[in-house]
Amino acid sequence: MAEKRDYYEVLGVEKNADDAAIKRAYRKLAKKYHPDANPGDAGAAEKFRECSEAYEVLSDPEKRKAYDTYGHAAFEAGSAAGASSGFGGYDFGNMDFSDIFGDLFGFGGSRGGFGGFGGRSNQPTRGASIRTAVRISFDEAIKGTKKTVKIRYKEECKTCGGSGAKPGSSPETCPKCNGRGQVVMTRQSMFGTMQQVTDCPDCHGTGRIIREKCPDCRGEGYITTQKSIEITIPAGIDDGQTLRRSGGGDPGTNGGPRGDLLVNIAVSQHPLFKRQGNNIYSAEAISFAKAALGGKTIVKTVDGPVELSIKPGTQSETKMRLRGKGVPSLQNPSLRGDHFVTIVVTVPERLTKAQKDALRKYAEACGERDEYRDC
Ligand SMILES: [Zn+2]
Ligand SMILES: [Zn+2]
Repeated sequence: MAEKRDYYEVLGVEKNADDAAIKRAYRKLAKKYHPDANPGDAGAAEKFRECSEAYEVLSDPEKRKAYDTYGHAAFEAGSAAGASSGFGGYDFGNMDFSDIFGDLFGFGGSRGGFGGFGGRSNQPTRGASIRTAVRISFDEAIKGTKKTVKIRYKEECKTCGGSGAKPGSSPETCPKCNGRGQVVMTRQSMFGTMQQVTDCPDCHGTGRIIREKCPDCRGEGYITTQKSIEITIPAGIDDGQTLRRSGGGDPGTNGGPRGDLLVNIAVSQHPLFKRQGNNIYSAEAISFAKAALGGKTIVKTVDGPVELSIKPGTQSETKMRLRGKGVPSLQNPSLRGDHFVTIVVTVPERLTKAQKDALRKYAEACGERDEYRDC
């Protein structure tokens, strides 16, 4: 496997570059190497993938910190959870590339306007993303899990092999635009003769005409099915995060790539544990006697019960740390947060006679006066 290039080097920015500089550098590279601008150029596609991956990491403060600390190793561990690389597999953030590309490439249906092309409707266009959501338990978020989601998935029509033409026929090159998808319209106006490039009206910009439509897909080239997809949810995922599976979305047009499948993760609350970042918090009640005399108590953790030593004289609200019993880091599951236990010293609400007598003796031993005697 080729050595991975340094992300800062990929974007051509300094290690201390601020967010604006990183975004600027990425926009420049993305514009240069974007598949829409380099149809069929595998070298450009690889460059685009490389700079997008670098941007995905460096534009996210947490991922950038992890990268600065661990280098590429910060994300390789994540690949065990199902990602071949940050970009090829899952994305753990909520990053939406459309805020970068929206004005550049017109993702999401709006057309045209790239770098002076008059129109690009028969250019390869990436398919739309499919969004879905899945709810998992607190424990599943800690340990990682697999879930099956049902999505509406557009699959290539087997009858026509995706061409949209009736078997035995094939799409023809549009004679009006010679397959270009665009035509130059000339019209007269008060300023003289105006020329305007527009989508070809005969083929609607596709450059092809289907004379006899495939009966199964009605000329669409694909059919929509219900598909069950198994999602690998990595250990450490948090409520509200989105997993991205590249290429799991709708098919592109004119040979463009599929969009992504975006799975929003909802994590249910736990009756005992609260999570903050990669740390877990819980409370543990102990008796006054145990707090005063010291002893042991068993606390629940996500790894099962753990014995906790209580020092003599432990005060209520004392926080105790169980190192490494927290949530695994998404970037590196071998790194785990901590579990903090807040000790709560409880006062009994009911006492037996023997207990009362013992406590009165205790109070006497403390030199407290005997006003307790008649309670
Ligand atoms: Zn078909
Ligand atoms: Zn045409």
